[in-house]
Amino acid sequence: MVAKSITYNTDWAVSGHAWAVNHLARSLSHDRVRHAYLITGPAGIGKTTLARAFAQALNCLSDETRPCGKCRACTLIAHDSHADVQIVQATGTTLKIDQVRDLQHTLSLRPVEGRYRVVILRRFDEATPQAMDALLKTLEEPAPYVVLLLTADSGDGLLATIRSRCQPVHLRLLPASTIRRTLETQFDVKGEQAALLAQLSAGRMGWAIRAAADESLLAQRTELLTLLEQAISQSRIGRFALAESLSKDSKDKELLHTALSLWQGYWRDVLLVMHSATTPITNRDHRHAIDQLAVGIGVEDVQRALTATQRTDRYLDENTNVRLALEVLMLDLPRMHLIPAPPG
Ligand SMILES: [Zn+2]
Repeated sequence: MVAKSITYNTDWAVSGHAWAVNHLARSLSHDRVRHAYLITGPAGIGKTTLARAFAQALNCLSDETRPCGKCRACTLIAHDSHADVQIVQATGTTLKIDQVRDLQHTLSLRPVEGRYRVVILRRFDEATPQAMDALLKTLEEPAPYVVLLLTADSGDGLLATIRSRCQPVHLRLLPASTIRRTLETQFDVKGEQAALLAQLSAGRMGWAIRAAADESLLAQRTELLTLLEQAISQSRIGRFALAESLSKDSKDKELLHTALSLWQGYWRDVLLVMHSATTPITNRDHRHAIDQLAVGIGVEDVQRALTATQRTDRYLDENTNVRLALEVLMLDLPRMHLIPAPPG
């Protein structure tokens, strides 16, 4: 009897990153799976999605082509509920040593139903040094069935000894055109909306898909950009009121970081228009106000607003009085009466 040969396809549940998928699929075809991979790239680029798809390929039950996306293993992994595929991430801000110790226990057990015990360690660059040290032990003597998939924004924050034991898989930012096409063809997002999301995503497919599915992400962005435009149009008193309301809304600093990063993008757009750059602006739906600023204020004004916004973003993590920091920022914004865009 001739055993049916199993092939590994590259038709994974991953958008873009074809070379990374090819690379991992090839390691499976040649039976050269490594014990640890380090998947890097900016937040929202699709690192966890790739890791999950790889876990499917590793444990798929099909005896024809893997991953099939349909078998019990593929389905359970897609829902993060396969017994042998575990996702570990920081419970607070950093991944702690206890989490790695728990993991070591799990890894000492043979897989329950799959061929491999796969652990996806998310944002491992933010793990404590002790947690990294503890993981090193596991990387030094892994059981044959263990595959660790570490994700990180970049490899720089990791111990060199960890980096050297992992196969690197670096995900690159995707062109806006690829993201737009994927949103239109695979996620049924309409033209202008797809173009906007593609531009806003700054090359991060994962972010674009999340934003397409979760309207609140875009709604929050609109609110925060509108707040900035209101501040620009208002006097000091009005600005302080805005600073106060934003500081009250921000129980955690996440919202503020989001606001400040959006505002930096906004000022960069004004600079792009001022310099008649060919690079497309990010906030294309705010073009009307951005154009007015580009002709109505000076380059130094924009530079000052941008620098102040970056500085505030850095200060936020230093236990600063948030309201005061925002008030100071408000004083560094140029003042100009912005005419609202005509409807439609
Ligand atoms: Zn399958």
